[in-house]
Amino acid sequence: MEPTTSALTHEAHEDVLDVFRTTCCIVGGGPGGAVLALLLARQGVDVMLLEAHKDFDRDFRGDTVHPSTLEILDEIGLAGRLHQLRHVKVFAPTLRAVGGSFTPFDLRRLKTRFPYIMLMHQPIFLEFVTEEAAKYPNFRLLMQANVLELIEEGGEVRGVRYQSPHGQHEVRALLTVGADGRFSRVRQQGGFVPIKTSPPMDVLWFRLPRLPEDPQVTGGATGGVSRGHIFVVLDRFDYWQAGYIIAKGHYQEVRAAGLEALRRSILEIDPRFAKHVEHLTDWHQFSLLSVESSRCPRWYKPGLLLIGDAAHVMSPVGGVGINYAIQDAVVAANVLTRPLKAGRVQLSDLAEVQRQREWPTRIIQAIQSFLQKRVIANVLRSQETLRVPLYIRLLFRIPLLRDLPARLIAFGIKRVHVRSA
Ligand SMILES: Cc1cc2nc3c(=O)[nH]c(=O)nc-3n(C[C@H](O)[C@H](O)[C@H](O)COP(=O)(O)OP(=O)(O)OC[C@H]3O[C@@H](n4cnc5c(N)ncnc54)[C@H](O)[C@@H]3O)c2cc1C
Repeated sequence: MEPTTSALTHEAHEDVLDVFRTTCCIVGGGPGGAVLALLLARQGVDVMLLEAHKDFDRDFRGDTVHPSTLEILDEIGLAGRLHQLRHVKVFAPTLRAVGGSFTPFDLRRLKTRFPYIMLMHQPIFLEFVTEEAAKYPNFRLLMQANVLELIEEGGEVRGVRYQSPHGQHEVRALLTVGADGRFSRVRQQGGFVPIKTSPPMDVLWFRLPRLPEDPQVTGGATGGVSRGHIFVVLDRFDYWQAGYIIAKGHYQEVRAAGLEALRRSILEIDPRFAKHVEHLTDWHQFSLLSVESSRCPRWYKPGLLLIGDAAHVMSPVGGVGINYAIQDAVVAANVLTRPLKAGRVQLSDLAEVQRQREWPTRIIQAIQSFLQKRVIANVLRSQETLRVPLYIRLLFRIPLLRDLPARLIAFGIKRVHVRSA
């Protein structure tokens, strides 16, 4: 690939309004794209981050900041500042089950400065990351920049064409990164075809209000099971974030049964939320997550790299999608900073990012798939309340085994660290 100018430049062009030039053009201001932009900007690489929306206030997509992300931010001196923003800590969620509650993981036993999952409204997290990136003059954020297509010349991707409220523009770049999530336009435009699996469940997300009769939820989260449904609740300070897990494709049946049936089902699982569910009066209060899992066999081609959900959509089991997108970003920055600064990114550099990140992704997806098939599918088929078998309760008393789920959730398969260039 040919070197590019090192400064962000801007020039007129006949068929598009503006043409910008940069070194790395990142499409998508989600956790993966925003963190990659910050890491490259602080190393002195010219970066443009393009986000389709006008702000970071988006539909709920999970608000978890995992121990590994907190460690990464700590390595670049930002963990302290992040902790000053409003958040809740989840360290040991409890499941309500026959025979007593069960704690599937407890992060407090892990060796880390941050033995908890921080729950922070994602727009606040993304604003924080992009504001930090904006402290570097070589970073530029374009909001309302909806990428339409890739610019390809001589068999290489040379940037993107995007739509703004003012018309069409181009960004020309040495490297383009698709961090545009599960419905990635960049992935589709690049001709990458993901291998999909269909997990057996969908999730209805909704909020429940804070009330004087709020239950005590130790560990920051709770959940339970009854008659083929799973109900989870996360403590969010001024409201409860609730998830109701249903068998895949059964949303219309749940709707046809009506809100009263849904409220009753939640109460069978956790009667402590009796008053709260009275506030569920309209289906507009719910958003349906169609659970998917997929991975691209190849994450790159000349001039283009995919990271995060664009490369691999993660199932919500274990809530590791954000964590994995950020770990991809760290590895991409570690591997690519030097080639980007040298103005020459080889295909082998892009392959190295995939090499380092693919196997942790495939292992965690295999674990998710096992849990979905062997545990969640059975629970969704069963008409009973959750019964945790005695052997599982005993296994969770063995220190090495007991802490394995916590370690996987906190750090993924492999801890990643920010490398200085
Ligand atoms: C309802 C729901 C709940 C979830 N809960 C959790 C959870 O609790 N914990 C967890 O870890 N994960 C959770 N996930 C998964 C998690 O959201 C993703 O794994 C994670 O956000 C992936 O990050 P990303 O940066 O790769 O992509 P995204 O976060 O999807 O970000 C992609 C960005 O690209 C932008 N974009 C898209 N197309 C274009 C375009 N053409 N041009 C410019 N910009 C574009 C989007 O607007 C978006 O801002 C949840 C997902 C959903 C849908």
